[in-house]
Amino acid sequence: MSTATLTIDLNAITANWSALSSMGRAEAGAVVKADAYGLGAARVSRALAKAGARTFFVAVAEEGATLRESLGPGPVIYVMSGHMAGDADMLGDMGLTPILNSLEQMIRHIEALPGHEFGLQLDTGMNRLGMEPTEWAAVRDIALAQNPRLIISHLASADVRDSDMNRQQLARFREMTAGLDCPLSLANTGGIVLDRAFHFDVTRPGIGLYGGLPFEDAQPVVSLDIPVIQCRDVAAGEVVGYGGAWTAERPSRIATIGAGYADGLFRALGGQQTAVWAEDVRCPFAGRVSMDMIGIDVTDAPGDPKTVSLLGRHQGVDALAECAGTISYEILTALGARYARRYLGG
Ligand SMILES: *Cc1c(COP(=O)(O)O)cnc(C)c1O
Repeated sequence: MSTATLTIDLNAITANWSALSSMGRAEAGAVVKADAYGLGAARVSRALAKAGARTFFVAVAEEGATLRESLGPGPVIYVMSGHMAGDADMLGDMGLTPILNSLEQMIRHIEALPGHEFGLQLDTGMNRLGMEPTEWAAVRDIALAQNPRLIISHLASADVRDSDMNRQQLARFREMTAGLDCPLSLANTGGIVLDRAFHFDVTRPGIGLYGGLPFEDAQPVVSLDIPVIQCRDVAAGEVVGYGGAWTAERPSRIATIGAGYADGLFRALGGQQTAVWAEDVRCPFAGRVSMDMIGIDVTDAPGDPKTVSLLGRHQGVDALAECAGTISYEILTALGARYARRYLGG
């Protein structure tokens, strides 16, 4: 095997969904945008549907259309970017439910697809998508007369437990939806673990399904095992890789492994803060990340490893993200197309 193997544990994903779902009385949906955070929306969504998920969220209509083909009729598929110009046929033919973000989108939707179900997004302070309080006040009666299926808003700081922003957004969401007889949704993963007050009727977990923080009890979902292409001895004082950025401080054994920044292993991971594991031995990166390769200091490994583990029981997605100064979301969605993908369970 010359490519690295990415193993995706579908049973861990469904277990995470069930755990998040049982934290409150709300119906747990599943956010599967960006190909289920890079893990394969078709496989992931089918496993989740089998486990009982009935409500899915994607970012754009094209993702929704692909998802509908793999899920078949039945589950609700919400499109969070709403009804964009040119989307009417796809939304209509594939039975997708756009979450309308503005008066402009609402007019477009009602004109192009009268009677076709939709949701609404309200802006409660993030200033990304959704209707502002004044816009909402103006269109509220017209919108409600058309029976929206769901009204959502999104938290900007749900991963920061004691952020004031959470309480402010909760209060504003309550104000803007007071007295409405329509299902409501505010919580992403962070919102679910914050407090039940954020759950409302439907929750929208994404990263927690895939094993990421802030769902601390998440079961790990991905492992990444990378083959060793070649090993060599280097003398103290010799350098390794582009720019000679790593210098051996002792006689060392260097393994060159077969994955690089073209596989989503960011160049920012380069340096000894990042490591792989050979069995249970931590082996730090030696030098820069190349496009298809990384040098690893395996001097302390018991022998030349055949493969090393970058993601797995020794290092999860959040730990690796920290090595690159980023978040697990970016690590997952960058996972490359070149990996051999192996699914467990589902
Ligand atoms: C991506 C997204 C989610 C899922 O967020 P996680 O933090 O991954 O749980 C929920 N709602 C909206 C509107 C999103 O854009």
